[in-house]
Amino acid sequence: MAQRILVVGGGPAGLTAALALTRAGFGVEIAELEEHLAPAGIGVLLQNSPLRALHSLGLAEEIVAHGWPHGPVHMATAEGQVFDTANPPALVPGLPPTVAISRRVLADILGRAVAGTDTRLRFSTTVDVLAWDDEGVDVVFSTGDRDRFDLVVGADGINSRVRHLAFPDVGEPEYAGQSIWRARAPRPADLTEYFMYHGHGSKVGLVAISDEHLYAYVVIDARTEPAHRRGDLTDEMRAAMAGYGGWVPEIAATLEPGAELRALKALLVDDPWVRGRVVLIGDAAHATTPHISYGLGIAVEDGIVLADELGRASSIDAALEAFMARRFERARMVVENSLQLSRWEQHPPEDRSVYGALVGRTLGTLAQPI
Ligand SMILES: Cc1cc2nc3c(=O)[nH]c(=O)nc-3n(C[C@H](O)[C@H](O)[C@H](O)COP(=O)(O)OP(=O)(O)OC[C@H]3O[C@@H](n4cnc5c(N)ncnc54)[C@H](O)[C@@H]3O)c2cc1C
Repeated sequence: MAQRILVVGGGPAGLTAALALTRAGFGVEIAELEEHLAPAGIGVLLQNSPLRALHSLGLAEEIVAHGWPHGPVHMATAEGQVFDTANPPALVPGLPPTVAISRRVLADILGRAVAGTDTRLRFSTTVDVLAWDDEGVDVVFSTGDRDRFDLVVGADGINSRVRHLAFPDVGEPEYAGQSIWRARAPRPADLTEYFMYHGHGSKVGLVAISDEHLYAYVVIDARTEPAHRRGDLTDEMRAAMAGYGGWVPEIAATLEPGAELRALKALLVDDPWVRGRVVLIGDAAHATTPHISYGLGIAVEDGIVLADELGRASSIDAALEAFMARRFERARMVVENSLQLSRWEQHPPEDRSVYGALVGRTLGTLAQPI
C-alpha cells in the first residue's frame, strides 16, 4: 500500500488532502509553486456538506469562529426587492448551515493545521517530470531534486501542471461566457445575510466574511473572454454595480482598492481521474463556475474521501476505484449544473422558476452523506 504520497498544490484541496492523509498514517510531502500560501480571490462560501467534511478533521469550529456564519440566501431584483430566500439546513449540530470566510484566513487555518503534522512543505516548487509504473512515480522537481513516491496527488488547480503531464489528452478549461468582478468592502453592521441581486446581463452578490468585512462580486455576461486583471480597478467595478438598488449603492461607494476581474471557466476530466499512480483532485479534476458556490467544497471533500479510501483499501488500485465511485457523479453534477445556471443567466428561460428549482435540487443532493 501507499506509504509516501506527494501532493502537488497547497490550495484547499491539497492542504486538506495532506491533513487527512497524515491522519490516516501516510507520509506526505506538498510541492507548492508559490513561495508561501497565496490564495487567489477575496472570500469564499463553504456550504453545509464541506463544513461537515471539515468538521471531521476538527477544523470547522475554527473556520466558523474566524469567518461569518450564514443561513438564509436572499434573491432580490436589481431594484432590491427580495423575491425568494433559500434556507439551507445545518448538517452538524452546533454549526451554522454555511460559513463565508476570507480566503487568506482559510489558507492560514489549513496551513497551520498542516504545519502541526510531519508533512514536508516545499515552497517555490513544482514537478517537471512524472514517470509512473505499477508501483509508484519517479518525480523530478523544478528544483532539480528527484524522489520516488507511491502516489502523486495533483491538487494544483484549474491550470494543473500534473494534469498537463499525466493527462495530455484532456483539453483546456472552457470559458462560460461570463466574467466576475470581486472586491472587499467594510461590512455595515446590519448587513448580516447573503444577498444576490439579479439584473439584466449581470448579478451582484454581497457576502459578509467577518465582523469587519464583506466581499462583493458582480457576474457579467461577456461574449468575449476578458483578460485576468487585478489592481486599480475599483472604479470599473463600481460602474458595473451602477443601477442596482438595495444594499448595492452603499457597498459600491465603499469598495476597497484591489478589485479583480476574471473570466469564469469550467472543466471536467472524465472518469477516472487516475493514470497509474497519479490522481487528480479539486479544480485540477473538476473546475466549476461559482453559480452554486461549491468548487472549494467538493475540492476539500475529495482529499478527505481519498484518505478514507486509501486508509482502508487493500491496494492503491482498489482505493482509487472506490474514490472515483464516490466522487465523479458529485463533481459532474456541480460542474454541469453550475454551467446550466450560467447559461440561464445569459439566456433566461421562459419559466424562471427552473433556476431556483435546479439550485434547490443540486444543494439537496449535495447535502447527502459523502
Ligand atoms: C469567482 C469564483 C468564486 C468562487 N466562489 C466559491 C465559493 O463561494 N465556494 C466554493 O466552494 N468555491 C468557490 N469557488 C471555487 C474555488 O475557488 C475552487 O474550487 C477552489 O479554490 C479549488 O481548490 P484547489 O485547491 O483545487 O485549487 P486552488 O485553490 O487553485 O489551489 C491550487 C494550489 O496549487 C498551487 N499550484 C498551481 N500550480 C502549481 C504547480 N504547477 N505546482 C505546484 N503548485 C501549484 C497554487 O499556487 C495553489 O496554492 C469560486 C471560484 C471562483 C473562480
